Amino acid sequence: MQEGQYSPMATTLTLEDDEPPSRRLVPINHPTASTAVSYPIFLKNTTIIPAAKMLFSQRISKTSPKTKAFRRRFYPLVTDKEWNDWQWQVSNRIRTYEKLNRILALSPNETLVNSDTQIPLSITPYYLSLISADDPDQPLRKSVVPSINEWIKMPCESDDPLGEDHQSPVPGLVHRYPDRVLFLLLDFCSTYCRYCTRSRVVGHGNIHAGRTRWEKAIDYIAKTPTVRDVLLSGGDPLTLSDDRLEWVLSRLRRIPHVEIIRIGTKVPTVLPQRITPKLVKMLRRYHPLWMSLHFVHPDECTPETIKACTMLADAGIPLGSQTVLLKNINDSVDTMKSLMQRLMKMRVRPYYLYQCDPITGSGHFRTPIEKGLEIIRGLRGFTTGYAVPTYVVDAPGGGGKIPLMPDYVQGHTAEDMVLNNYENKCYKYPDPLPGDSVF
Ligand code: SF4
Repeated sequence: MQEGQYSPMATTLTLEDDEPPSRRLVPINHPTASTAVSYPIFLKNTTIIPAAKMLFSQRISKTSPKTKAFRRRFYPLVTDKEWNDWQWQVSNRIRTYEKLNRILALSPNETLVNSDTQIPLSITPYYLSLISADDPDQPLRKSVVPSINEWIKMPCESDDPLGEDHQSPVPGLVHRYPDRVLFLLLDFCSTYCRYCTRSRVVGHGNIHAGRTRWEKAIDYIAKTPTVRDVLLSGGDPLTLSDDRLEWVLSRLRRIPHVEIIRIGTKVPTVLPQRITPKLVKMLRRYHPLWMSLHFVHPDECTPETIKACTMLADAGIPLGSQTVLLKNINDSVDTMKSLMQRLMKMRVRPYYLYQCDPITGSGHFRTPIEKGLEIIRGLRGFTTGYAVPTYVVDAPGGGGKIPLMPDYVQGHTAEDMVLNNYENKCYKYPDPLPGDSVF
């Protein structure tokens, strides 16, 4: 990529330097609104036979009956144009218990919180439309609505269990592994997950989305030739404006030893309206660009999210998923299999299944490690290997990701390795090979 191809966006950045643009109240008629458009990106230069066309249009139906009903009930005067504008969604996110209580019948566990929690309350109207109004045990609801369980701190928990703050050579840049860095662009997300590993920072204004800090991080990367892979995260990088995100991408692309850039985001699930044709057109200029998308439950795979993932995949961005294993949310083989299979249909390759980090107040979300192994055992062999994520524990203290696998090895004889297959049937593989000494 030539340097001259980029516009550094210095003026825009200076204007917006103090705060993520998503925190501003933005006029609802923003030009980037992805209103109820047809999607030329899907259809251009493509011949579609009628039957396939019908299936295709079913696949990209614009919204679910649930979201439609929610809009009719709670946002009857909001136009399609407003609802489908990501900045309208951000500006109208639900941030107070009073407002939340008008939409959901809050349970005693949820009502009692009613004050500051470590992680702020914030839910986009779109994501709220997927949440049950009456059932506090609904998985998506538990993942974003605060409960008093967050106040319970266990001795094993800490605010920074992964020791990120001790592995930051410059503020907001974590350099843990030899060839890659984690670059935290901001601490803002449109919707906050109650189990967030970065609960100590998200929504607190500690990670300033400003050019001065970003330049320090980019300087560090430029001066560290071993860094070939930069993961942009936060907070959610896709809540930045196109211009600000492009400024970061273009600066990173000028560094010859940065081979790949990755973006970690939950936007396609909580704010799919953000994936606009304009954003996608900009992103595809910075290949090789990868994305790790955060999913927790099959209910997140809505028409809106399918459309967002399709647009990203059509732009040539390899998509992987990251899922945190959460008690009473997705801790069953059936739920996880359904999620992984739906992700595959959206061209999102299941990447990591994370054991929930022991952050402060997360005890009600954590499962025994055996549960994760049971889920992997229930996936491997029962569905395509592409749909089986790597189950990892992120080692407390900053030791990095440690993969865990069910044990399929039963033992070893003089001639064979004794193995169990996915159906628990026993097989032998010659090991060492009989002729090893000959070769
Ligand atoms: S989207 Fe990611 S960074 Fe934001 S609250 Fe959820 S887990 Fe944390």
